[in-house]
Parts: sequence; C-alpha cells; structure tokens
Amino acid sequence: LASRELKPDDTIVQVGAVKIGGNRIVMIAGPCAVESREQMLSIGGAVREAGAVILRGGAFKPRSSPYAFQGLGEEGLKYLREAGDAYGMPVVSEIVSTTDVDMMKDYVHMFQIGARNMQNFELLKVVGKTGMPVLLKRGLSATIEEWLMAAEYLMSSGTDGVVLCERGIRTYERATRNTLDVSAIPVIQKLTHLPIIGDPSHATGIRDMVSPVSLAIVAAGASGLTVEVHDHPEKALSDGPQSLYPAQFEKLARDVQALAPVV
Ligand code: PEP
Ligand code: MN
Repeated sequence: LASRELKPDDTIVQVGAVKIGGNRIVMIAGPCAVESREQMLSIGGAVREAGAVILRGGAFKPRSSPYAFQGLGEEGLKYLREAGDAYGMPVVSEIVSTTDVDMMKDYVHMFQIGARNMQNFELLKVVGKTGMPVLLKRGLSATIEEWLMAAEYLMSSGTDGVVLCERGIRTYERATRNTLDVSAIPVIQKLTHLPIIGDPSHATGIRDMVSPVSLAIVAAGASGLTVEVHDHPEKALSDGPQSLYPAQFEKLARDVQALAPVV
C-alpha cells in the first residue's frame, strides 16, 4: 500500500487544516513533554508566532529509566489540546499503549508512534484502525524496509495518512545522540508516496546542532521538521539539552523559509 509503484503521486496527509506532503515544509514544534498548562500555553504561543503549524508535546514518555519523568498522561493531553486550540494548531502526541487509543483520539489530531514502538505491531494495528493520521518515527535500529513494513501495518489496518519521520539511528558514533540518516529521505521518496519529515532534535541530542541539521533535512527534500522547543530548557523534565529556546526556533524558521516554501 505504501509503494510508489502502485501510487506514483505524492500522498498529502491532512492533519486538522494542515496538509503534510510534497515540497512545502510543515513545521511541527513544541516541548518534548507536556509539563504544565502554563508551559504549553507559553511555548504554543511562541512557536505559532515563529511559524509552526502543528503543536507537539508528549504525555506518555518512553524514558530509558523508569525513575525519569513519565509524562502527565491524560492531564497532559488536555493542556496540549487547550494550547493547540488557543493558537489554531492541530496537535500530535505519542501513544505507547493500545489501551490509550480510545481516550487519546478525542484529544489529538495525529498519533505519534515513537522509535521504540515502531515494531509494536499490536499497537500499529489498533492505531491504524482509527483511520487517523500517524507520525511514524523510524526505529532506533530499523532498516528502511522494516520501517516501511511498519507503515504497511498501519495502512492495512485502516489509515492512509502515514507520515514517516527520520529521527536518527544507532551507529558507533557517540558525538551525537543518534546519527541522522539523511539519505533515507531520497530513498524513502523513491520507494513510497508517503511524506517524510525529519527530527533534528532526537537525531542530534544537542541544541546547537539542531539548526544546521534541520537545514540539511530541508535541503534533502523532506516535507517538514519536528523540533523540540522549550521556554526554559535548563529546567525541562525531558530532553532539555536538545530543546531550542523560542528565539532560536524563530531564527530557524526564518532560515527554513529562505531555503524552501513553507506551509
Ligand atoms: C519524542 O518525539 O519525544 C520521542 C520520544 O522521539 P523518539 O521516539 O524518536 O525517540
Ligand atoms: Mn524528546
């Protein structure tokens, strides 16, 4: 279903009023995790002003340590949605459990499947059955073929709105958190009609590297970016070191606009 051979034209995925796909750049931005109502309203306003059109924020966080902040759950989804509605942005948030699907679909416009769950096939089937758009992140050590088979799980279950997200893969290199596979962008575009965006935040793990890597993603032809932004990154409950300050995001958004047409 995902194959370009079967469907030569680019798929455009509709998320609320926003269309993802083709050569216009969609900017998704927001904090790694929803931490409070005030935080979401503050960051939501800042990223919208800068040019973001979709708001992100995790309510269920798949953390490496069980002792780290796990997210606010449904309360977090309420704050995310309130901020999205306040600034006219559809919202995306990660789902980690099949038991949350019914609850979450009333809050989010798009489900995110995280890297760690890319091959959680039961989750893919249940999320796919909703028919809602899905942001499918590449697994930490997934091949492109495995990634596309995960998209097939979603599509064969009932959703045609799958957006792929290259977020860096595990390699021997430790200078950055992950290694952005920039060539995945043209490879994916050859193999599938589904849109692909990039995540420079998880790819690098380092604030100062987010902007140059974002521009590389756009230059390679991706249809968008998802960027972590925090109003107080030094106090963030997760992924502070890779979160941009709002002013940095604003500059990045301007640099992206100089490079390619944006949505
Ligand atoms: C995230 O987007 O906050 C996240 C956890 O990403 P990934 O699944 O790519 O690690
Ligand atoms: Mn994160």
